[in-house]
Amino acid sequence: MSLEIYSPVQQIKNELFAGKSIQVFIKRDDLIHPTISGNKWRKLKYVLLQAQVQNKTHLVTFGGTYSNHLLATAAAAAKFGFKATGIVRGEEVENDTLFLCKLHGMQLIFTDRDSYRDKPALFAKFFADDEQAFFIDEGGASAGGAKGVSELVDELTDTYDHIFCACGTGTTAAGIINGLTKHNHPTHFNAVPVLKNGGFMKHEIDKFLAPPANYSLHLNYHFGGYGKTTPELIQFIKQFVADTGILIEPIYTGKMLYAMYDLAAKDHFKPGSKILAIHSGGIWGLLGMKDKF
Ligand SMILES: *Cc1c(COP(=O)(O)O)cnc(C)c1O
Repeated sequence: MSLEIYSPVQQIKNELFAGKSIQVFIKRDDLIHPTISGNKWRKLKYVLLQAQVQNKTHLVTFGGTYSNHLLATAAAAAKFGFKATGIVRGEEVENDTLFLCKLHGMQLIFTDRDSYRDKPALFAKFFADDEQAFFIDEGGASAGGAKGVSELVDELTDTYDHIFCACGTGTTAAGIINGLTKHNHPTHFNAVPVLKNGGFMKHEIDKFLAPPANYSLHLNYHFGGYGKTTPELIQFIKQFVADTGILIEPIYTGKMLYAMYDLAAKDHFKPGSKILAIHSGGIWGLLGMKDKF
């Protein structure tokens, strides 16, 4: 498996940041791969290597109808020669994400919301007799996922006062924090949960931290909950894309960057601070949100 990473760090300059005397950069994990985008590539790396070591040829994973993880797994399976099945929450529908999953050869099984809660039971129900089947949890949440993400920090040639990242399962946040600890970076990590009542995210992140570490959770930037938006968020995204030429979307990266800009405007960062935002990819998520723009 060739797993080379292209993810440059670029500076974002504007009047807000100049006025606050801060420097802001963005790590372009969205450029790693067009469909296996951003953190999903990093999270899948050790999971796929583990599947390969165990001679498994069939990846089985889980997601909602707009899951970036399902699409990333479908594309990674196609690229690296695995068969793939996606178990999808809810009744059968068609949308752009699922179209792309199928285009990459992924088989889809739709399941009701109750049975979806017990993923090991679903795996057993459909694949007990398939010795080639390999279980990958929803969103790629796993210690292997965090390990893959921690390598993001190996690539940094500079240190930052703050790093910002969007979080869903918390695996990506945990991986970056572990990488910062390993390299002794004096960086404060800022996680922006994209779900409502994201306080539980602390438990999810801490599960994968070795050793424990301090970080901030910014709980007020969920815009109503997972997949929810507001006109302010959409307006921010339009302005950001038009100003920078960098695509972002309302589910993850839009919320994280809104948080960072809002905190900058509110003098949260000391003058002279250097801040790095992680563009974790996921821009296909825009397809499901077109009607909001
Ligand atoms: C899945 C995803 C996340 C969330 O990553 P977790 O490891 O689940 O917290 C963040 N950003 C994007 C673009 C994603 O697709």
